Amino acid sequence: MGRSAILIDGKVLLDYGMKPADVPEFPVGDVFPEVVIVSHAHLDHSGVVPNLMRSSPSVYMTPVTRELLYILGKDTLKLGMQQGICVFDEKDLNDLMNYAFMTPYRERFWSSGYEFELYDAGHIPGSSSIYMHSERDDINLFYTGDIKLEDTRLLRKADTNLPEADVLIIESTYFGKNHPDRRELERRFVASIEETLDAGGHAIVPCFAIGRTQEIVMVLHAHGITPYVDGMGLSVLRKIKKHLSFVRDGNALVEAFKDARFVTSKNRKKVLSEPSVVVTTAGMLNGGPVLYYINKIKDDPRSKILLTGYQIEGTNGRRLLEEGAIELNGGVVKVRAKVEQYDFSAHADDADLKTLVEMFCERGVEYVFTVHGENAAAFAEWIRENFDCESFAPNLGESFVIE
Ligand SMILES: [Zn+2]
Repeated sequence: MGRSAILIDGKVLLDYGMKPADVPEFPVGDVFPEVVIVSHAHLDHSGVVPNLMRSSPSVYMTPVTRELLYILGKDTLKLGMQQGICVFDEKDLNDLMNYAFMTPYRERFWSSGYEFELYDAGHIPGSSSIYMHSERDDINLFYTGDIKLEDTRLLRKADTNLPEADVLIIESTYFGKNHPDRRELERRFVASIEETLDAGGHAIVPCFAIGRTQEIVMVLHAHGITPYVDGMGLSVLRKIKKHLSFVRDGNALVEAFKDARFVTSKNRKKVLSEPSVVVTTAGMLNGGPVLYYINKIKDDPRSKILLTGYQIEGTNGRRLLEEGAIELNGGVVKVRAKVEQYDFSAHADDADLKTLVEMFCERGVEYVFTVHGENAAAFAEWIRENFDCESFAPNLGESFVIE
């Protein structure tokens, strides 16, 4: 977890992620691929792709992924400068922007003797699952990347009209867990915000910049709530607006943001002058303007922090849930404002993951690899028990020979 990369035949690299930490963690070992396919723009899948540019591989991704990778790349560079650890430099990032091939969904392309096709994965704007065919070995492989099989306000559900594969590599983030009904979730979320405003408090909604910020603004707009929006979610919106065919309803997205009030560091002070809803980054409270707002409302029991997703271990958001305190300005402070958590996940849940595996197994998949999740081993075991195929949960750096 946290640094996805799959190397095939020593030549083709699917994703090359980074785990952000005090010392950023890379996928294992040095790699010099001929071809790199990036499934989507989350750091854990694409964070160190710029590092690969020194060996001049052919890199493919959707146009939206390329745009979003640039924003995240600039942010990684900025953080690296502050911390004194630069994982790549400006030239690497510019080379990636200049030389990456922009690939639409459902269009076959060829590179280094392999055939590829990207499919809409429904996870974040521009996210893809990757189909790959080796002409030499006549083997088909399908890698889900991060995938969501349910419509959200922002995105269409993943394309499930998929080709047959001999090898399936599937994410397993939510194996063993199901999501609540989305309408019911929205209803509870909106009711809680209205109750907070009625009580004279502020509702602070921490969100990831990519996908979640836009989704939450659309949810609020649909329920007649006008939020303030602060942080990197706004620059992400500008990039997405250049490629509206990648979202479910471009007009609805644009309309929702017309109604929102944008905040910059200059007018931030005015935001909390009356009961307000603030949608802001970072989603797990590790930096960003969200800490400014929490600092202001932390002692106000009428105010509320509404977390919009899973909080990974070691993050400030997790600490808030477990200890009712967060790291702020170099110390640990108690938070008296209320804290709630809502599962607006962008991943397939247990039932969807099982459906996806069944779909591939019924059409003759021979090997399934379960990756990217705390429960990958249990998922692999469930597959072995229920289907006539081999299944593995690979360890970091482990190799497999398919014959
Ligand atoms: Zn992701």
